[in-house]
Amino acid sequence: MPVCALCHAESNRIIFKKENRTYFRCKCGFIFSRVSGMQNDVPPHHYDETYYSPWEIAQGDQSPWRIGKNATFASWLRAIARFTSLRGSLLDIGCAAGCFLEIAVQQGWDAAGVEISSFAAAEAKKRFGGRVFYGTLHEAHYDDNRFDAITAFDVIEHLDDPVSFINEIGRIIKPGGLLALSTADSAAWSCRILGKRWPQFKPEHCSYFSLPTIDRLLRNSHFEILHRGAAGKRLTIAYIDAYFRAYPSALFGPLFSLLPRILPKHLRTAPLRVHTGELFVIARRTR
Ligand SMILES: [Zn+2]
Repeated sequence: MPVCALCHAESNRIIFKKENRTYFRCKCGFIFSRVSGMQNDVPPHHYDETYYSPWEIAQGDQSPWRIGKNATFASWLRAIARFTSLRGSLLDIGCAAGCFLEIAVQQGWDAAGVEISSFAAAEAKKRFGGRVFYGTLHEAHYDDNRFDAITAFDVIEHLDDPVSFINEIGRIIKPGGLLALSTADSAAWSCRILGKRWPQFKPEHCSYFSLPTIDRLLRNSHFEILHRGAAGKRLTIAYIDAYFRAYPSALFGPLFSLLPRILPKHLRTAPLRVHTGELFVIARRTR
């Protein structure tokens, strides 16, 4: 039985199996998955161009994807700005093609990024050059106390050892620095209702947090949570349709393939605030 990455207990309960993975729930509330029959996870997915196809990286600034992403990132930067007037050094972990970096730089941050997808990192390097590191956070070997703020949006659910990830962030963030995270919320109603059919239970995800477990993760690494809530992503109908064509859902797919055909264009492309069953947390390093 694999050990819980969060509390190290071995008494995990198998909750279900899906595709090639087994899903466990620890008594501490943490949910995680492993490739069936393996104690540790397999090496990370390659996140090549096909992984990003629904995100339409190459389709320009006015794609439904970019409109929604830009609105989401702008709202998250506004949330961070409520806790600091400083626009210092910022690291975006899992920066993908650099959309968040672009908005952060526009708002005065000295922003850098880390990305493990060679495809996405190459896209980001076209605009940000040496500010983007291709590889994992640990491989980047940033100096101690280097950053005023660190963001990792939709990243920790991909990691089988989120504790060492947060500890590494703790090493490279300045005392008092801000950390903003978004991740799937395993306590969301969509998860409770859909069970193993919840779209977030997919092979590239292996760690599932809720507010109590992410609070424990952060407190153990000397972060105090300043803001917690629903991620409230901005999505366009056209984007949601593209998402469900990439990740088919018997429940939502038909609905969101119908809407783009019956709605006028300004409604198809306007960013709507959608509760996607994800958490958004801002925490401060306490030492
Ligand atoms: Zn546990």
